[in-house]
Amino acid sequence: MVNLLDFDVEGLTAWFAERGEKPFRAHQLSRWMHRFGVDDFGQMTDVAKTLRARLAAEAEIRGPQPLRDSIAADGTRKWLLDVGNGNAVETVFIPEANRGTLCISSQVGCALECSFCSTGKQGFNRNLSTAEIIGQLWHANRVLGAVKQPGVDDSGERVISNVVLMGMGEPLANLDNVSAALRLMLDDHAYGLSRRRVTVSTAGLVPAIDRLRDSVPVALAVSLHAPNNALRDELVPINRKYPLAELMAACRRYLEKAPRDFITFEYVLLAGINDSDADAHALLQLTRTVPCKFNLIPFNPFPGSDYRRPSAERVRRFQEILMNADVVATVRKTRGDGIDAACGQLAGQVQDRTRRSAKSAGAPLSGTRTIIPIAQEVHA
Ligand code: SAH
Repeated sequence: MVNLLDFDVEGLTAWFAERGEKPFRAHQLSRWMHRFGVDDFGQMTDVAKTLRARLAAEAEIRGPQPLRDSIAADGTRKWLLDVGNGNAVETVFIPEANRGTLCISSQVGCALECSFCSTGKQGFNRNLSTAEIIGQLWHANRVLGAVKQPGVDDSGERVISNVVLMGMGEPLANLDNVSAALRLMLDDHAYGLSRRRVTVSTAGLVPAIDRLRDSVPVALAVSLHAPNNALRDELVPINRKYPLAELMAACRRYLEKAPRDFITFEYVLLAGINDSDADAHALLQLTRTVPCKFNLIPFNPFPGSDYRRPSAERVRRFQEILMNADVVATVRKTRGDGIDAACGQLAGQVQDRTRRSAKSAGAPLSGTRTIIPIAQEVHA
């Protein structure tokens, strides 16, 4: 049975056209599904009864099933969502004073093997479908009480104002499904988010950066993590394929169509590895031709990792060197303490097809991690 969450509005329009239905049906359905969070055709009161019956026979609106729902003391909330065959992915909601950010996953595991990332250690199983990607936003909206009511003015503040594709996986390695989900996030018949408030984060898949620019240019974050190729080859192995000069050129091309006039460079700070004054200066040199901001992420440890987080003083000094060169550099706050919801800590449950977890010493064969006690837990 076809899951209507798998279509963007254009795809849904085509699906209706094949059934002799007008394009406005796709708009109606999108609003019911995405804005109002409805999964029951029976509730769609402005859709003709005969069509509702036909839809119920042919299609479904199937969101993800939560296996676990955890809330940290700071309000950060994490869902473990079932995606079948023993696999599960994680989605994180991060409330702040003036915005709410949803961090969503794009793959079950990840194939890129960045040395400091917990998802990378889990191995890779498969790409998420469009329904599984947009389903994370659909689910969070419903659970957070953020769905709109038909006929009610919805100009008020949004519970989820920002979406970042910074969860499990490499979004640009799943570009088709990610693009369809991005289009739904931006579409006024669906979530209507601003392009500037939707961010794709990539480890640097150069050809896919160009494709994203030409199809759905949203805000772009690039995981840099090293100021030279020798170190980046080690930390972010995809660098061997797309080295820094090519990556910087792709960033410049992206800015021609980007909704923001800068690229965000993410830089995980690893004590004694990439956090020296010389590294900060080299980073300024490397990026001097790309309008950018830095987001420094002090390393978040996870079971089995050897790296260490630098001292607060070292982090401050690194930031200061960038700021003294008039480059904006923020330090990412660690959120979701106690529920393993910070950057690089998302592991989900990955049945590893690459059998990478079997190679890394000490990790369980299945790739399933032990769940650390959490601050507060709500079972769905
Ligand atoms: N694959 C994409 C999306 C992941 S986003 C990418 O690489 O950008 C998650 C961000 O957290 C990335 O910048 C990633 O490099 C960073 N990260 C991964 N492991 C981390 C860790 N242990 N501590 C801090 N940041 C980490």
